[in-house]
Amino acid sequence: MLNRVKSWKKIKPYSPGKPIWELQEELGLEKVVKLASNENPLGPSPKGVAAISERLAELNRYPDADTAALKEAISGKLDVSKQQVIVTNGADELITLISEAFLDEGDEIVVPSPSFSEYDFGADLMGATVVPVPFDEGFQFNVQKIVDAITDKTKLLYICSPNNPTGTYLAKADLETLLNAVPERVLVVFDGAYSHYATAEDYTDGIEFVKTGKNVLVLQTFSKIYGLAGLRVGFGVASEGIIQTILKVKEPFNVNSIAQAAAKAAILDEDHVNASKEANASGAKELYQAFSELGLNYVETMSNFILLQLGSDAEKLYNELLAKGVIVRYGKIWGLPEYVRVTIGTKEENKFFLNALKEVLN
Ligand SMILES: *Cc1c(COP(=O)(O)O)cnc(C)c1O
Repeated sequence: MLNRVKSWKKIKPYSPGKPIWELQEELGLEKVVKLASNENPLGPSPKGVAAISERLAELNRYPDADTAALKEAISGKLDVSKQQVIVTNGADELITLISEAFLDEGDEIVVPSPSFSEYDFGADLMGATVVPVPFDEGFQFNVQKIVDAITDKTKLLYICSPNNPTGTYLAKADLETLLNAVPERVLVVFDGAYSHYATAEDYTDGIEFVKTGKNVLVLQTFSKIYGLAGLRVGFGVASEGIIQTILKVKEPFNVNSIAQAAAKAAILDEDHVNASKEANASGAKELYQAFSELGLNYVETMSNFILLQLGSDAEKLYNELLAKGVIVRYGKIWGLPEYVRVTIGTKEENKFFLNALKEVLN
């Protein structure tokens, strides 16, 4: 098969947020609110769900290996050609495929850090080295430091914007500066998993730079705003040449047929996307206000989660929140032991979380 390096000992299995059922079973809790995986609290796109039922009678057939209908919807939405799109089993699979296609043992990837752990996983899998670039004050990107981290061995540069777990973003002008400074042999992977939530005037989702022929691949997912995390669909947009290279390592039937149908309907479901954006914006406002009243520092977010500073007691508070049925993400995995990352929930979920937070802080 692929030229993966067997440095398995280094690789730690991905640690997902605790599932709701597990916590319920462990503690005998009646109500559990999960604000740990940045899922859409409003649920899946109703149009996506409807599209699934139409497909059920054909589950005896293999899915379309080319994902043609979904690709057409994506390319229509983003105004790129179908040949510039690849559809994958979640964006996670795309990160693995990019790693397999572009990395060899001894290569380097540059990652403004802390960020999404799957980039490191892909590098570890191939025996490549991760070169982290720390953020500036307030978790802001520093373009010069990122450029300076590039060496002759660098093959990939990841830019997650808005960044998970900080919620900060790279302004359009800074991305342009960066793309102009990066050598041609380095592929820039722009992770726009949370693009739809970003409201800043100077934000870019990166697609415009694919269109102007920059050496960039934009990755997006159906797991966040479209509310289809359980189905596993993501996609990449880049030049035809880059997409062709990645297609070489893709399994033919990587995206199942109901996932293809649901994703196609969801990307066209503007009502669901708009309702999700609005609920997120008002949820963020509520949480900001409550955090300020509690005297807590937080990082202003362009996404659907907030990085919240709880201080030296953060781990204890995280565990006490769990005991009260609130699952958030503890920041230690990102080297942020004083922080938790909280997904913005529904009005009711946010209230439940804030009540629990007030209790554990007392
Ligand atoms: C959630 C997430 C993804 C991809 O998720 P999939 O469910 O695999 O599509 C990619 N990047 C970031 C930063 C994420 O948070």
